[in-house]
Amino acid sequence: MRDRFGREIEYLRISITQNCNLKCIYCSPGGSGCVHEYTSYLTPEEIEQIVRSMARVGIKKVRVTGGEPLTRADICEIIQRIAGINGIEDLMMTTNGINLDKMAEKLKEAGLNRLNISLDSLKEDKFEYITGGGKLENTLKGIEKALDVGLNPVKINTVLIKGVNDDEIDDFIKLAKARPLEVRFIELMPIGKYGEQNSDKIIYNSEIINARPELIFCEDSTKGHPATYYTIEGYKGKIGFISPMSHKFCDRCNRIRLTSDGKIKPCLGSNGEEDVMEILRNNPEHLDEFIQRIIYEKPMRHHFEQDFSSARNMSMIGG
Ligand code: SAM
Repeated sequence: MRDRFGREIEYLRISITQNCNLKCIYCSPGGSGCVHEYTSYLTPEEIEQIVRSMARVGIKKVRVTGGEPLTRADICEIIQRIAGINGIEDLMMTTNGINLDKMAEKLKEAGLNRLNISLDSLKEDKFEYITGGGKLENTLKGIEKALDVGLNPVKINTVLIKGVNDDEIDDFIKLAKARPLEVRFIELMPIGKYGEQNSDKIIYNSEIINARPELIFCEDSTKGHPATYYTIEGYKGKIGFISPMSHKFCDRCNRIRLTSDGKIKPCLGSNGEEDVMEILRNNPEHLDEFIQRIIYEKPMRHHFEQDFSSARNMSMIGG
């Protein structure tokens, strides 16, 4: 359906857990927010009910994210339930890839179409530093496995931080040389304390593009994907640039979010959210109408540039 600004809203991102097996410095500094004891996550049945309602009001694409989605033991059931919903044409996941080697095949069988894998360093020690103890080898194995089982296209998400991993830009670009990977650089957003306090560490995508004349423009961002794509002669893959800080793509935004504790968040860069669980438990017959209203009232644009301070970090919202 269309919101009040005429944007077709057809993409839902669901955070199925706040828990994560990594503690990335910019996502959950100091490890706070990575492991939660509480058990009030949406159940697979509740997720299915909400997505069924979303599909009835026009959602066609669903991304499962977190926290780390692969830390949920019932992840394949969740995927299977969503994949079986009429009207859902594309089902994707964002993961850090740590457990992917073991899971990729089962996820594919359950109905997952494709994957984004986060990877912020290609150096073991730096990967460990950024992720608070993660092992690079596990994510690299996960990437290979995802390609092997045909979860195509595999997209790599890299958040560049000045003085931390910006010395690896060309190494990341080279990942797209021999394999059909889409390597995407995402500008650091002021979500969570690290992003809020380190705006001087943002690497603007235009700096990367301007310094590399070998990049050949392929495709502008569209409402379907926020990345602008480039390639290099002879490369099998592509290089994408997602620029929420330097180029707003709000006028083409087609997404809403569902948090792991059952709140619908119509805009990543605004703090508004609505409790869908209350309706689901007490007035399920009004669920479609409730979702329609939230979509219709989706904010016009994010406010990252106006000292935006997020009430949640990314592991709580689902990136
Ligand atoms: N655990 C999964 C993973 O690592 O991909 C999914 C959740 S993670 C929150 C999703 C994405 O959000 C990651 O690619 C991460 O780099 C990105 N992210 C987290 N905080 C961010 C920030 N402040 N700015 C930009 N991207 C951020």
